[in-house]
Amino acid sequence: MSPAALQEALDAITLWPIPPQVHFTGGEPFLQFELLLDGVHWAVERGIVNYVETSASWCIDDEEVHRRFVTLREAGLEAILISCSPFHAEKIPPARTLRAVQASLEVFGTRGTIVYLPEYLKIIQLFDIDRPTPLSHYEETFGVDEAGRVLWQGYGIISGGRAGYKLGHLIPKYPAESFAETNCMLDLLYAHHSHFDLYGNYISGFCGGLTIGSWRELHQVFEDFRAGRYPPLIEILIARGPYGLAQMAREDYGYQPNPAGYTGKCHLCVDVRRHMVRTGDFFELSPLPFYDHL
Ligand code: SF4
Repeated sequence: MSPAALQEALDAITLWPIPPQVHFTGGEPFLQFELLLDGVHWAVERGIVNYVETSASWCIDDEEVHRRFVTLREAGLEAILISCSPFHAEKIPPARTLRAVQASLEVFGTRGTIVYLPEYLKIIQLFDIDRPTPLSHYEETFGVDEAGRVLWQGYGIISGGRAGYKLGHLIPKYPAESFAETNCMLDLLYAHHSHFDLYGNYISGFCGGLTIGSWRELHQVFEDFRAGRYPPLIEILIARGPYGLAQMAREDYGYQPNPAGYTGKCHLCVDVRRHMVRTGDFFELSPLPFYDHL
């Protein structure tokens, strides 16, 4: 995200009747530390800063981690959120996560150190902490049932990404019809936690790869939503959920439900969207690279 776009996004947030608190996340915001620091300054000026989230991937040197945290604290930041899970440990040596937690405790104290999720601090140290841990290790070590509990229930996975494809064999699956009674009104219209990305996408809740509009036109999005005007795919999801989307995709775009079933409603949703993105041009299915990595 360019500095100008970041300022524009922060200004857009102040248009809310009650501006929400902002967290900086990624990707990995520390990859562009100068920009992150500017962003914290600008958010502090606007009174909307909450916390900065990090994967700790960059935390290889004690002094550097400490110095950057102190710099952010002096800019007015009060909290750091450190991601801690088998999914992060799959790419990031746990030693880096532990280093980030330690430095954050020293700089921000216990109140300003959020570990998400602390239950995993012990679990990620069961394997070599100086190397990433492949997710297959959990299944090999604990067996299918326990791996399912550790990876799925323990993290509360939302299956709207790769989880249903890569880890679906660890938990039960259900046919598409079993999601016929669910819709996504709360997730899309009343999300407590949403994201603005660098492309201008306003991503509601945790619905990755699905935009409800552009944060650059927030006034218009608010006006349309208040009047009950939604982008076509969003309208289907609000009214009929992913099963409604699957029915539409089956009739109009040749989608075939997976006979093996789905791990959850978001797995069905992302499977339908993955099919649709290959068959047409839908503004709601963005950013497109999301679908390349499923
Ligand atoms: S089913 Fe789709 S729209 Fe609904 S909450 Fe899940 S990802 Fe979001």
